[in-house]
Amino acid sequence: MTASPAGAPSSGPAFSTLPLPPQVLANLQRLGYEHMTPIQAASLPLALAGRDLIAQAKTGSGKTAAFALPLLARLDARRFAVQALVLCPTRELAEQVSQEIRRLARAEDNVKVLTLCGGATMRPQLASLAHGAHVVVGTPGRILDHLGRESLVLDGLQTLVLDEADRMLDMGFAEDIAAIVQRCPPTSKRQTLLFSATYPDDVAALAARYLREPQEVKLTERHAASQIRQRFYEVAESERLHAVGLLLNHFRPESTLAFCNTKQQCRDLVAVLQAQGIVAMELHGDLEQRERDQVLVQFANRSCSVLVATDVAARGLDITRLEAVINVDITPDPEVHTHRVGRTGRAGESGQVFNLASLDEMGRVGRIDEMQGSASVWHPLAELQAAIAPDGAAREPLRPPMVTLQILGGRKEKIRAGDVLGALTKDIGLDAAAIGKIDVNDFSTYVAVQRDSADKALRGLNAGKVKGRSVKVRRL
Ligand code: AMP
Repeated sequence: MTASPAGAPSSGPAFSTLPLPPQVLANLQRLGYEHMTPIQAASLPLALAGRDLIAQAKTGSGKTAAFALPLLARLDARRFAVQALVLCPTRELAEQVSQEIRRLARAEDNVKVLTLCGGATMRPQLASLAHGAHVVVGTPGRILDHLGRESLVLDGLQTLVLDEADRMLDMGFAEDIAAIVQRCPPTSKRQTLLFSATYPDDVAALAARYLREPQEVKLTERHAASQIRQRFYEVAESERLHAVGLLLNHFRPESTLAFCNTKQQCRDLVAVLQAQGIVAMELHGDLEQRERDQVLVQFANRSCSVLVATDVAARGLDITRLEAVINVDITPDPEVHTHRVGRTGRAGESGQVFNLASLDEMGRVGRIDEMQGSASVWHPLAELQAAIAPDGAAREPLRPPMVTLQILGGRKEKIRAGDVLGALTKDIGLDAAAIGKIDVNDFSTYVAVQRDSADKALRGLNAGKVKGRSVKVRRL
């Protein structure tokens, strides 16, 4: 990955302002790192001076180098002992971190970096440990396993890194972490660096226990207006469809396109969302033209919150003002992913992309990262507090702002949008602001009306006339 991390690295201070040896600076230059990212500029001077740190930073911010350079600076490759341990929540992240540390360690001779994660066979890990490693990166369960077997010994440890601490706690690693820290030298003899995207109470408690007079490094996030922000959530297969409802009720986007890999998944998702009171519709190849038009009209006029589709069904779809894209399944083809993502955040508008990935899909996420040239940003599913509004009150499920009324009569009856608008405002007395898009088709006219004006509009149109004629109107 040759990524340029978020946060304008071209404008930060130069790495050469840091107390790093010339060969390290030369290696950074070879890697194309000239200017520090904001998190690096804030944390490297303190961490290189030996301070413990609590740093709030996300993947993609350049956080790996922010802890890797200090741990490498303290490392003596001639001493055969594990001198640095990095704990990560997932294998995927552990592998990324190892890779980055190896690249940054190229300036030194023979720094051995070992990844120890669950899911991989034990025997090669034991062999590598027997061979000696300077830096170990891994997930808490497997690290603890090795400590129990005494294949891993941390007596010579100088640096302990807790990476994505919030996610590790969300994943239930608190006890494992406690057991691991007990096997490390005391805080007076080690440097501890804690990185976390969020800073809830349990992370603060972790920091209070394991860090010594830590410095806090917090960065306020910048929002680029036209930036598409992607969030990844790890889900179990059983919680995937439910997670879509959580996302919608938490972020409350007005229009969302949800991509599934199969038609069956589309059908299941629509059923789950509808059961929660969310207006969701499926777009699929088996729809008659008239049905397809109705679905698209309702989505475009804001009376349907979520359009659920496979990539094939969504082909050729042109929708403006799409606040969010949800990748309910991760596509095996990274180009398809780019295509899905490009549906939102058009023309300088901001867009959000939410990705739900199971452990089985991590390889696909890796390929997407590679293609996009940036690391995916992960969030815990637990951050989605669907039922509670910011003021603590219970929240209604997400509802679209508009309702669609279908007038049986269209171009063939010589109905024009102006006739419908006239009937609604002049005859029925609705405020023009309460009326949305009016679509006149050959035999039908669709008019979007604000939810709280819908009943009045429906009664009025059925009782009155459009273009001098009585019409039949129904609510879709
Ligand atoms: P991270 O947040 O650690 O996952 O880093 C995101 C990506 O940015 C990685 O691919 C790093 O190799 C790259 N990177 C980190 N720091 C810099 C920098 N100062 N300049 C350019 N690229 C960087």
